[in-house]
Amino acid sequence: MKPPPFEHVPVESAEAAVAALAEHGDEAKVLAGGQSLVPLLNMRLARPGVLVDVNRAHGLDGLEANGALTLGALVRQADALESSVVLEQAPLFAAALRHVGHPATRNRGTLGGSLAHADPAAELPAVLLALDGEVDALGPAGERTIAAEALFTGPFTTALAPDELLVRVRLPLSSGRPCGFTELVRRPGDFALAGAAVCVGPARIVFFGLGGEPSRAAGAEKLLDAGAGATEVAAAATRDLDPVSDVHADGEYRRRVAGVVLRRALAEAGIDG
Ligand code: FAD
Repeated sequence: MKPPPFEHVPVESAEAAVAALAEHGDEAKVLAGGQSLVPLLNMRLARPGVLVDVNRAHGLDGLEANGALTLGALVRQADALESSVVLEQAPLFAAALRHVGHPATRNRGTLGGSLAHADPAAELPAVLLALDGEVDALGPAGERTIAAEALFTGPFTTALAPDELLVRVRLPLSSGRPCGFTELVRRPGDFALAGAAVCVGPARIVFFGLGGEPSRAAGAEKLLDAGAGATEVAAAATRDLDPVSDVHADGEYRRRVAGVVLRRALAEAGIDG
């Protein structure tokens, strides 16, 4: 399939991108790595009349650890994965990146695109939530910060306004913090049927791939903070889950698998029993 006709608007700054988004309104979409948007265009599932191409925008691909790990929205997933700073300062983020797509898609795919696309089975939104991360968004009224808790509002839906550009991702430094990341996929690089991202101290348990947006298991987190073992924590975390059924798996299967991937992620974080 081929995409419907569109006007290509390359921009060289975040400000120019925001101006173009404001000028073209609902007709416009941001084009970053294109690894999600272009397949949607080709399948005619998205028909924006204008693509605001941010790939040449300056100042959106920085990466630094200075009190927090700050990554520009245009950082390619492959570059973040190869970064020793990311591996050292946010090992959970590095662990998740290994599961995002394939080397070829990671070479083009960006951190901002993955978060803005908000696929329910995507790994990076779950990790942003597990690490209590946040993003900065630039819009016509200036810049604002959105915490992960408030960013993901539904499947493929975020709190970003149509005329806002996600410009930066910020993660607390988590070097040495016990964590674990596991997902079940049919083939490497596929989207997850169910996945879990776990941190200890304070406890964070986030499921993804179950439908909707990434979700924390707050009751199970309290048990984990109180020193409960993996069996008790996993049972509490999955008891009330109500995953979607779709062509890939039914809800009850996903719920059972969620318990398995959670126990594996807890074991990676040193929590057994
Ligand atoms: P694009 O495709 O360019 O854009 C995606 C969406 O986000 C669009 O709606 C766009 O308008 C918006 N957007 C992009 N950047 C911004 C921004 N800075 N501000 C505001 N809005 C923005 N992803 C996974 O998470 N896990 C996987 O296992 C996985 N497997 C894949 C396998 C294949 C074969 C392919 C082709 C893709 C796969 N992906 C997977 C998707 C890939 O990771 C994408 O890179 C990612 O979802 C989107 O990043 P992008 O930079 O390509 O964004």
